[in-house]
Amino acid sequence: MATYTPMIQQYLAIKAQYKDAFLFFRLGDFYEMFFEDAIKASQELEITLTSRDGGGEERVPMCGVPYHSAAMYIERLIEKGYKVAICEQVEDPKTAKGVVRREVVQLITPGTVMEGKSLEEKANNYLATLTAFEDGTYGFAYTDLSTGENRMTLLSSFEEVMNEIYSIGTREIVVSTTFSEEECKQLKERYELTISYEDETTIPPSFQSIASSLKQNKLQVTFGRLLNYLIKTQKRSLDHLQPVDLYEVNQYMKMDLYSKRNLELTETIRTKGKKGSLLWLLDETMTAMGGRLLKQWIDRPLLDRQKIEQRLNMVELLMNHYFERQELRELLREVYDLERLAGRVAFGNVNARDLIQLKKSLKQVPAIQEVIAKLNDDSAQALAQALDPCESLVELLEKAIEENPPLSVKEGGIIKDGYNETLDRFRDASRNGKSWIAQLESKERELTGIKSLKIGYNRVFGYYIEVTKANLHLLPEGRYERKQTLANAERFVTKELKEKEALILEAEEKSIELEYELFVQIREEVKQYISRLQKLAKMISELDVLQCFATVSEERNYCKPRFSTNRELVIKEGRHPVVEKVLGAHIYVPNDCYMNEEREMLLITGPNMSGKSTYMRQIALTAIMAQIGCFVPAKEAILPIFDQVFTRIGAADDLVSGQSTFMVEMLEARNAIVHATQNSLILFDEIGRGTSTYDGMALAQAIIEYIHDKIGAKTLFSTHYHELTSLEEKLEKVKNIHVRAIEENGKVIFLHKIEEGPADRSYGIHVAELAQLPKELIERAKEILHQFENNSHPVAAAVAETEPKFEQLSMFEEVKEVKEEAPLSKKEKEAIKRIQSLDLLDMTPLEAMNKLYEIQKLL
Ligand code: ADP
Repeated sequence: MATYTPMIQQYLAIKAQYKDAFLFFRLGDFYEMFFEDAIKASQELEITLTSRDGGGEERVPMCGVPYHSAAMYIERLIEKGYKVAICEQVEDPKTAKGVVRREVVQLITPGTVMEGKSLEEKANNYLATLTAFEDGTYGFAYTDLSTGENRMTLLSSFEEVMNEIYSIGTREIVVSTTFSEEECKQLKERYELTISYEDETTIPPSFQSIASSLKQNKLQVTFGRLLNYLIKTQKRSLDHLQPVDLYEVNQYMKMDLYSKRNLELTETIRTKGKKGSLLWLLDETMTAMGGRLLKQWIDRPLLDRQKIEQRLNMVELLMNHYFERQELRELLREVYDLERLAGRVAFGNVNARDLIQLKKSLKQVPAIQEVIAKLNDDSAQALAQALDPCESLVELLEKAIEENPPLSVKEGGIIKDGYNETLDRFRDASRNGKSWIAQLESKERELTGIKSLKIGYNRVFGYYIEVTKANLHLLPEGRYERKQTLANAERFVTKELKEKEALILEAEEKSIELEYELFVQIREEVKQYISRLQKLAKMISELDVLQCFATVSEERNYCKPRFSTNRELVIKEGRHPVVEKVLGAHIYVPNDCYMNEEREMLLITGPNMSGKSTYMRQIALTAIMAQIGCFVPAKEAILPIFDQVFTRIGAADDLVSGQSTFMVEMLEARNAIVHATQNSLILFDEIGRGTSTYDGMALAQAIIEYIHDKIGAKTLFSTHYHELTSLEEKLEKVKNIHVRAIEENGKVIFLHKIEEGPADRSYGIHVAELAQLPKELIERAKEILHQFENNSHPVAAAVAETEPKFEQLSMFEEVKEVKEEAPLSKKEKEAIKRIQSLDLLDMTPLEAMNKLYEIQKLL
């Protein structure tokens, strides 16, 4: 190391403290990276790798980015899950002796970005922390640095930890250096999390006030870890951090991550995007804060009936006041992201434009209060009164900040005239000077008789008098001093002009300096309002989500759900909200659902594509929507309050984690069976399909029996094992329902209509008939079926003996099974691939037809 130049030595010393980050080392107008960092960054950012002499034997690899466009590069690295340490020069190079002192001023990590694309408007960016305790429990805390929100809870298993991580969608998690490597590996693999380490867990005294609710040591240790990590990485004011909100997972409807994913609450399974999810359907929020809160509410449906009804009543009120709601929406449109603005104020990176946004937002508050008052309702009135318009802050900003300030806070043009006397004086001097110069121009023209004479300004020479070469002879001797020669003109100054110029420039410089000082003072003053702004932000975002529910509910004809206390569930003309929106309300076939203590489990049979899983999902989504306080897609709905929802639905998408489809299926089933109570809702779609007929059916039946006898949860179970329908006779609370299909003009039409009883058993033969298989064959099939039903077929009889539970077996299942297992041809695989890659939500029916035609041609 001794052979390196002092600067490289400095670099290496700092880098040693930030081994897991790219070190952006400030050198003049660039951030430079060296050695390994340079090689890796040049690949990741596609920038040129060079080298420089560092005093050692070999040249030092180097690459750099200009400091003014660094944000873009930092963002790219953060997006890829890296960390970036920003190392600045912390003394003036002009006065420095030897190497300029440099320090890391901020460590930017995926969980702590405050700017740029990574910070999606309508989504929170959480940094989480996890502490494992010896008794097998975990402390889990998270913060959104941009809004200052802090939440934490204790969890009883790693499985719960995984669920929470999925639901908050964090990108970075802080653990102790002794944290289990195996668990770190799981976190990394499952969620591509950036793992960071912090061992200091004492809450510093200045943060005690926000941590006062944390009485238990476990809570303190966990939150302390998070705080210390923030302090070390951010190295700046964290005044906007809000008091920790301590929650318990059982305050909310529990859904494991499989269920959330299967029900496509906030993202779709296939595209992982928002479009097509419940969040997408519901998002009529007008503010970014509202958008974030909506996502949080969807993730955490409530259990407390009173709270749910409070939300529902407010939604109803807003629904019944169309014009007030429209007015409210328009007002909310003008409200900027108060939460993140408050965060930026604390961070000290707020600019004058932000402050103008803040002012404009606050100015909407009195008008919002007025609109709410018009709703004529006591609780709405209370809400209106609780909104804090922060008048004194508005006044300050109104008086101080220009309406259209520049982005930069260091170049003036921010502070209004009349706000500060000294500033006014500087400005007068410079303005007077400028008008004096304008007058000088006409005076000089008169004096010399040169009409084209003009006075200009440039940065190098300052003010000058410009005369074209043709007119030079008209200038009197002595008065004009030549400064610059151009192709066809000369530029001069006079003593008088120079004197005035000095005055103007001095005044300008001073006024810009003073403006910055004043701006910083104002910013400090705004800081005093942070917690008031945060409270206001919270209330506005709630109001926004409630109006959003009202808007969607009205537009889509939803009804206000009621809650039963006897575990009864009645849904009349229910719909799947997203499918209904995509297909159009006129196409969607509404369905009823009725369940109570005698009718606890519904076994759904019906052909593929008839609408079984849509029906099941619609029940779950209805329950979830009701418990977040939204109206539901039905004509009438009475629902129990569900404590948990479990699903095992549709295609398993878990190929990434290397588990087989069937294994995933069983894991999801286990989750439900272990955790469900009689107040839970379970949806099982085609359980047992992933294995051979016999053991699949055996498992399916055993699962149904187990839930029936031991759990008593409301369960919807779809199956293609027709045999299972006979369970209705054995198990008291099991009822058969089916999706109706009819034949019309030689075609099978799915009516998507749910009806009582099992599906028509000979449906398969029916289809074969329609496909015009030989008459003789069809007759024979009917005969075999008949034998099966009477258990007189030799194969069936043999099976019935060894597997006494299966009283009926169907040849069709066998045939189907063989068909399923036959290897697919190349063409078939290609066709499947093409179908999977279609984005149906983005296609017109005609486009879909064309695609289908193309694919069919393949086969
Ligand atoms: P299954 O689970 O029986 O295979 P799905 O529930 O996946 O069938 O439904 C298949 C398709 O049928 C859906 O993609 C949807 O377009 C349509 N569908 C389902 N239910 C309805 C309904 N109630 N009204 C109109 N179309 C429906």
